[in-house]
Amino acid sequence: MTALPALSALLLIAPAPAPAPDTAVETAIRPVAYHVNLSSDATGARWDGRETIVLRNPGPAPIDAVWLRLWGNGVDGCAATPDVTVGSFTGGTPGEPAVGCTAVRVRLNRPLPPRRTTDLSFALTIRVPERADRFGRVGDYAFLGNALPVPAIGDDLPPYVSGGESFQSLTSTFLVSLDHPAGISVPATGTVVGEARHGGRVTTRIAAPLVRDFAWAAGPFGSVSGRTSTGVRLHTWYTGEVTADTARSVQADVARTLEYGAATYGAYPYPEMDAVIGGFEGFQGMEYPNFVLTEPSSLPAVHETAHQWWYALVGNDEYRHPWLDESLAQYTTDKLLGTPGYCAQAPFWFDDGMRIDAGMDYYDTHHDFYAPGIYGDGACMFLELESLIGADRVRTALRDYLARNRFGIAQPSTLRDAFQAVTTIDLTPFWAKWRNVR
Ligand SMILES: [Zn+2]
Repeated sequence: MTALPALSALLLIAPAPAPAPDTAVETAIRPVAYHVNLSSDATGARWDGRETIVLRNPGPAPIDAVWLRLWGNGVDGCAATPDVTVGSFTGGTPGEPAVGCTAVRVRLNRPLPPRRTTDLSFALTIRVPERADRFGRVGDYAFLGNALPVPAIGDDLPPYVSGGESFQSLTSTFLVSLDHPAGISVPATGTVVGEARHGGRVTTRIAAPLVRDFAWAAGPFGSVSGRTSTGVRLHTWYTGEVTADTARSVQADVARTLEYGAATYGAYPYPEMDAVIGGFEGFQGMEYPNFVLTEPSSLPAVHETAHQWWYALVGNDEYRHPWLDESLAQYTTDKLLGTPGYCAQAPFWFDDGMRIDAGMDYYDTHHDFYAPGIYGDGACMFLELESLIGADRVRTALRDYLARNRFGIAQPSTLRDAFQAVTTIDLTPFWAKWRNVR
């Protein structure tokens, strides 16, 4: 197990987690740290090893079990050989797979008392399926988004959705060791803190403090590097179908988004940001802490990078409240790339159930409405709010929302209240117009 390095040195500012306002979140078992050691096959498409999660009970009652989410099984479900398998547990005993093999309940060896920690450890095998997806591989390149098992928040177990997201996890520290062939790069969340060559392989050690998830990719990527004006190191990785010039263009989009976000909302508190350029089916990119997957164009590069504030720093229940992170990420995108003309006619409602505050239970069965509702109407809503209360007040509210919820999980009322706090205008009719309060 890797000793904790001076993790504070990896952050640009001191962490100041705000108390989460939701009781389910406050009392959920917390992953204090993840220790992950994985070794790949010759291609980076299969990884074997062990994951240990240090769990803490924040109180007030003993906790006797934890649900692990195995999101990598979301698409293929309970296949004969699931894409992600866990076994050889220490610290707990697993039950039968649940929710399409995306969850397993692990009964702890003994109930964890309030304010105590325990280690839960298990063998882990990840087989990256052939699929142009956030968890998938295309040719020589593997993308490992949502591949590492993470604890659910309490007994909250939404199903996997492919058009949109179901993810929700608590901020932690990931210490990850990836052993791989020397010809394969492993861009990842966090910062490389050590590399050891042995034979034709490399063990890459990565530390990622204060992040809610860890993603990586594997393959013979080309790369370009740079730095934002605010000092964040940038690495942009690209597949063989992409040129270095295109990668530099994507990196410029990532840089200006990081600079805009820091100036407008508050600091990006990490020293590094990695973008991995690939081609994906059904979506243009995907956000992870310190790490984005993106197709080679400005819109997804800016949008996914904007999620560093809205999802990565301020977390939310992506299944029940997809608008919280997506609408703000798209609003930030529109601020950088220009207001879409359709906002003049928004909002667009295609049926009675279509709402800004509808969850993925609705949008997963009305998939054609998801982008117009959550991204389109959602971003236009914030742009109209600027006209109503002033752009400066919108910015002040978002700075306060970030400061209060950084590293935590926000609720819809948290965001609406942040806007109401900066204006004497009663925003109730505004939220009603945008179908954003029941
Ligand atoms: Zn998004």
